[in-house]
Amino acid sequence: KPVIIIVVGMAGSGKTTFLHRLVCHTQASNIRGYVMNLDPAVMTLPFSANIDIRDTVKYKEVMKQFNLGPNGGILTSLNLFATKFDEVISVIERRADQLDYVLVDTPGQIEIFTWSASGAIITEAFASTFPTVIAYVVDTPRSSSPVTFMSNMLYACSILYKTRLPVVLAFNKTDVAKHQFALEWMEDFEAFQAAVSSDESYTSTLSQSLCLVLDEFYKNLRTVGVSAVTGAGMEEFFKAIDAIAEEYMENYKADLDKRR
Ligand code: GDP
Ligand code: MG
Repeated sequence: KPVIIIVVGMAGSGKTTFLHRLVCHTQASNIRGYVMNLDPAVMTLPFSANIDIRDTVKYKEVMKQFNLGPNGGILTSLNLFATKFDEVISVIERRADQLDYVLVDTPGQIEIFTWSASGAIITEAFASTFPTVIAYVVDTPRSSSPVTFMSNMLYACSILYKTRLPVVLAFNKTDVAKHQFALEWMEDFEAFQAAVSSDESYTSTLSQSLCLVLDEFYKNLRTVGVSAVTGAGMEEFFKAIDAIAEEYMENYKADLDKRR
């Protein structure tokens, strides 16, 4: 069975570029990938998608028809697509023997996918049929500020608890800034507190308390440093995915079935 990799992350973190890199890597390594675009508003894709939401739902027309702004248009398009998602699952099931991974790109704005009913429906549909992993893309250069780092980790944490799926943190753009600082902050909360303490705002007090809580969360995560632009870290990324996929069937699947 193929492993589903759902790529999420803040707008501009590099999801689409990362997905393109994954596609290049799979093609070069004889890995059989199937590519899905769930962003109805993307103008041009750097990769060619096997399944593209834009073939089914015309985002501009949805905006006009329902008199919506851009975000409402994206959300409604995703809702319309989610109603047909069982068909998407059957298409993948029919090809399951010939596929290693299904690579899924999601809309630019993270909350449209992670905090919507349709995002939950799509995620659940995948997870109940295939081993499913969330790749949370982090903009590493932007996360070098401790408070930005903290909000990114809280977001990843909430996705982990909401979906109950395994999460891989992909620290992207390591060609611009190495992710070593992030690993240090995650391993040693005193190092993080030291970084925060230079800033005496309310958020920094909050961050200091929160990092104690997140310490527990970090233990449930795998991290890799990647660059969607140079291709660094691809092997490591797929290794992390494979390790998780192995555990998946025993742990997560049983847990999902129990809650259903
Ligand atoms: P998305 O909104 O998350 O899909 O982000 P995009 O893939 O559209 O990328 C946002 C911006 O980040 C673009 O200008 C990309 O060229 C840039 N970007 C993405 N990945 C990398 C990377 O690994 N290194 C660098 N330097 N820039 C990147
Ligand atoms: Mg994108």
